[in-house]
Amino acid sequence: MPQFSTPALNWLASILEERFGFAFTLQPYQAGLKLSLSDCEQGFILFPSLNSAFHESHSDLPHSEWDAAQAGWLSVLEQPLPALGVRELPQPLIEQAADHYVVHYDVLGLTYWMLNRVEEIDRTDLDNHGRFPAIHSHAYKHGYLERPVVDEWLHVLGQVIQKQWPQVELKQHEFSMKVSHDVDSPSLYQFKPWKTIIRMMAGHLLKRRDIKAFLQAPYIKLTSSKQLSQHDPHNTFEWLMDVSEKHGLQSAFYFICGTTSKMDADYQPEHPIIRQLMRRMHERGHEIGLHPSYGTYQKPELIKQEADRLRAVMQKEGIKQNEFGGRMHYLRWQHPTTLQAWNDAGMTYDTTLSYADRPGFRCGTCFEYPAFNTITQQSLQIRIRPLIAMECTIIADRYMNLGYGKEAENKFLELKDTCRKVKGCFTLLWHNSHFNSQQDKDLYAKLVKEDV
Ligand SMILES: [Zn+2]
Repeated sequence: MPQFSTPALNWLASILEERFGFAFTLQPYQAGLKLSLSDCEQGFILFPSLNSAFHESHSDLPHSEWDAAQAGWLSVLEQPLPALGVRELPQPLIEQAADHYVVHYDVLGLTYWMLNRVEEIDRTDLDNHGRFPAIHSHAYKHGYLERPVVDEWLHVLGQVIQKQWPQVELKQHEFSMKVSHDVDSPSLYQFKPWKTIIRMMAGHLLKRRDIKAFLQAPYIKLTSSKQLSQHDPHNTFEWLMDVSEKHGLQSAFYFICGTTSKMDADYQPEHPIIRQLMRRMHERGHEIGLHPSYGTYQKPELIKQEADRLRAVMQKEGIKQNEFGGRMHYLRWQHPTTLQAWNDAGMTYDTTLSYADRPGFRCGTCFEYPAFNTITQQSLQIRIRPLIAMECTIIADRYMNLGYGKEAENKFLELKDTCRKVKGCFTLLWHNSHFNSQQDKDLYAKLVKEDV
């Protein structure tokens, strides 16, 4: 039988406390776990059997479904719940006993497995960027990647808590949305050498027959030595901030602060243009964060170095923020190495965790949560803010290839609606350099509206 360590039980209790608004105590009890309210003697909720599958790093767990409505419980998405880890479920799944409730599904094990990405540890079936791809995940294979399974099961647990302790009032959450922008390329031309500009001009003229772009390239290069040109296709920062402000959002811009590969940026964070850009973002009330370069995801010392480099620039510019977070370039992530590296670099949150090849709920949740390292069995300071959708995952032909039509719009909106239903946070990544067409602007502007 799997045993949770004391730090793991404390971490699980902290997840429940954030979700429901009370302090809980979780204790081993026979072969299972007993959940009590910390300042209440009366009754408990028992999870009599724990599932060892939730401590294993592979994607071959069995899978089943639980029809909550049929059993007299509410399903927040009004659909049967994915029940991973089991082939068959006991009936009834939830029972009332003399002074307690019994839950015959390992909701806490599921939470531990999903939030801590236990599935991904030591995997070797990675993509060409060394990433664990959605298509190899249990969630994708069993069709629940677009379901926040942890949030759905905690919604059921909330109902059990409410029945067990009718006197308590569960914490109410509100739906929110967060937009962020990885600054891979702040300018299409400014930071490139003339040799490259000339090659790009030839492409505009000969391949695309685009005279406007042909003329604009040298013009932008020549006229933006002090600040980004208004005509630069990647200089969408003012527009992004306008749109965010119109909808009561704060944009977060994550800057690359190192060069570890040719996949990295062509700018340096200390460049006067970039510093001016950061000042402007800060003045307008938006956030600046880190986008660790391509080769850093297995190298904690480099993540720390790049974080310190950004901190130094921000300090020189007098930029002070309560939060200092960001996202890995290319969403490169090795769990828990990269997580621990972010933690040790003194960052407050990371928002990398979505899959590049499919959108949805890689961590099974759209709520931010405190991180835990299952290898060292230690709670970390860093918080994980799951990413739900990156624009190119849905639009680009190398991933889902839905382009800009109704199908793409619906996919984004379905994900947003799911987050709204569970009262979580819809996090959307849209690169500042991904507004090459009016279609991008129209789609983005539609997605950030409050009422869609
Ligand atoms: Zn990037």
